Amino acid sequence: MADTLASIAIPCPLRRSFDYLWPASLQREIQPGTRVKVPFGRREVIAVVLGPADNTDVDASKLKAVIAVLDDDPSLSTALLGLGKWAAHYYHHPIGDCLHQMLPLALRRNTPPTAENTAAWQLRPNADIATLSPRAHQQRALFNALLENGPLSRADITALGFSASIVRALQQHALIEEGEPSSKPAPAEQGPTLNSEQADALQQIIDSDGQFARFLLDGITGSGKTEVYLQAIAHALANGKQALVLVPEIGLTPQTLRRFEQRFPGRVRSLHSGLSERQRWHNWQAARDGRADIILGTRSAVFADLPRLGLVIVDEEHDSSYKQQDGWRYSARDIAVKRAADSQCPVILGSATPSFDSLHNADLGRYQVLRLRQRAGNACEAPIRLLDIRQHALQHGLSDTLLNAISSNLRAGNQSLLFLNRRGFAPTLQCHCCGWIADCHACDARMTVHYKRRQLRCHHCDAIRAMPASCPDCGNSQWIYDGPGTERLEMFLNQHFDAPVLRIDRDTTAGRDSMAELVKEVNKGEPCILVGTQMLAKGHHFPAVTLVGIVDMDAGLFSADYRATENSAQLLLQVAGRAGRADRPGEVLLQTHCPAHPALQSLSQHGYRDFAAAQLAERRLLDLPPYTFSAVIRCDAPQLHDAEQFLQQLRNSLQPPAPGWQLLGPLPAPMARRAGRFRASLILQASERRTLHQQLAAACNVAESLSRRGQLRWSVDVDPIEMF
Ligand code: ADP
Ligand code: ZN
Ligand code: ZN
Repeated sequence: MADTLASIAIPCPLRRSFDYLWPASLQREIQPGTRVKVPFGRREVIAVVLGPADNTDVDASKLKAVIAVLDDDPSLSTALLGLGKWAAHYYHHPIGDCLHQMLPLALRRNTPPTAENTAAWQLRPNADIATLSPRAHQQRALFNALLENGPLSRADITALGFSASIVRALQQHALIEEGEPSSKPAPAEQGPTLNSEQADALQQIIDSDGQFARFLLDGITGSGKTEVYLQAIAHALANGKQALVLVPEIGLTPQTLRRFEQRFPGRVRSLHSGLSERQRWHNWQAARDGRADIILGTRSAVFADLPRLGLVIVDEEHDSSYKQQDGWRYSARDIAVKRAADSQCPVILGSATPSFDSLHNADLGRYQVLRLRQRAGNACEAPIRLLDIRQHALQHGLSDTLLNAISSNLRAGNQSLLFLNRRGFAPTLQCHCCGWIADCHACDARMTVHYKRRQLRCHHCDAIRAMPASCPDCGNSQWIYDGPGTERLEMFLNQHFDAPVLRIDRDTTAGRDSMAELVKEVNKGEPCILVGTQMLAKGHHFPAVTLVGIVDMDAGLFSADYRATENSAQLLLQVAGRAGRADRPGEVLLQTHCPAHPALQSLSQHGYRDFAAAQLAERRLLDLPPYTFSAVIRCDAPQLHDAEQFLQQLRNSLQPPAPGWQLLGPLPAPMARRAGRFRASLILQASERRTLHQQLAAACNVAESLSRRGQLRWSVDVDPIEMF
């Protein structure tokens, strides 16, 4: 064999591949998708082979050689390599970084863990659950799982949502021992008989078997969407196929995992950020060699290698966690649809509040709509009632009507849920004597008061300061705490009501099992008041909640940013969907200062579809997405001027606005300074996707060639969900 040339994708910020010498001494063929070690600058990096290169512009004296081949079989399959190339092109992102991010961490670093330990845990003879504290809920749950299922492998235990520390705890109590994995897996739980809407939806999915078909499963919360997914998966598995199921970050709860695991024992593997690097690698590997039939995961699981992929599901497809918000800003939902197209299989996008993108695709006939209008079982959807709070006295943001409703709901033995998407005690601290306001030193933003910790925190850059003892300007210490946060509601409700108040937000659920503990507490069903942020809105089923109070959503619903309006409406209905999920009917009370606003009227009286139709009509008139295609080029720098100048130069290099082609900016972000850096953006919008891509490609070339002052950074965001 003679020396040849290879084209290699290097993880670096440049939008191109690199040529390397492929020495005969490697004694290996060039195989696309294989990882190699190569010299790059002064470092050695792990990179991915794209393929052979016929010739190169690189001077023979400068051409460097591949140092080593790291894989026997390519780490990226032909299908994934193709997907990576497509995505790099579509998102105008460096191919090297795309392929790098598609690999599990262990392979990016070349530290593949040792083979999977297949040993299993089982209960010791005479093990007694009474040894465990009644409060050790997780330990007791694992004990019961072992009692019901017999021996469970480590992978199964993880798949059921138990951490290694829970296993260790049982081991320390001498309750479990290592054993052989049981040869027969636990019997699969049978699903319920589908109602006619569900059966109809399932039949249409099954009918598309073996072809690419896009379904929008539009079903209200609790209508049995998950049940349709499970039975569609059963069908795919029966045909020897694998299924990929994506859920939002916050939706991958131990309960979700358990539900899938109980239906398909031993066949589910999960991929999410809560797993160790090692477990992720094992699960990725299990998908790749076909041992795992179902991959259930969050955003990056869309890159799992599934050689027999036969069904793709994206649950809560409207959820913004599917869009990566830094670096490579891909949409896992859109990539999931692309994967289904590549694999010639059906894809189901499910939601109670479909994204406007998907509704538009349904209007165009690209997506087949499957509707579930009734709640499964006896539950029915709770109506939304508007509470006009103009000129009403509020106590910590709560009207008397809402407080009275909570009160009678408690007396009736029910649970209430108060939603406010703002953590902390109060969003503003002001001096009552001179008007001084506590601002963040690094952002154009105010510090939020965290009362019990006596801290001021910036929710944009995470800066923390102690609460000042007195005003830094005038020395007095009479404070105004302006506006409510969840901590404040919790403190007030505790004084006001004689019932437990449980707060669920990022501050109260930071500990490892604290969320699970809180959910268990709620699900005991005793009367209580839940207070929380959007963490409460998603993924959880609280059967005893019958009243939902929405404290303040005006800002989001009536935002100037049309995407904020869409997201707020989705969030509102998600929260509303927590009311009356079981047999008790529910009610939703929404406090507002704009009860006559048409958006609110249509949402509360006619529902989400009506609201979406009105909003979409408006977007069509204004030439906004999804009727046009857009991208944002963002820039940030220690000086606003530098960021704006960079974008202006970029703008000057692009085609001037014309019919079907628009440029907006450079515009400073509404909150220009964050974490000490100033941010601006240039918005590109076109009526044809091709135009957008041509212009973006040109812009990226120019941006890479422009000299950059200071520590200026820039990035591209195709199909953005935020403008700044
Ligand atoms: P969604 O995913 O739309 O929120 P789920 O699939 O979680 O709905 O269903 C809500 C509840 O109704 C679950 O407890 C589920 O087990 C139950 N359920 C779903 N379909 C049926 C059915 N056909 N018959 C009886 N119960 C059902
Ligand atoms: Zn003062
Ligand atoms: Zn800050």
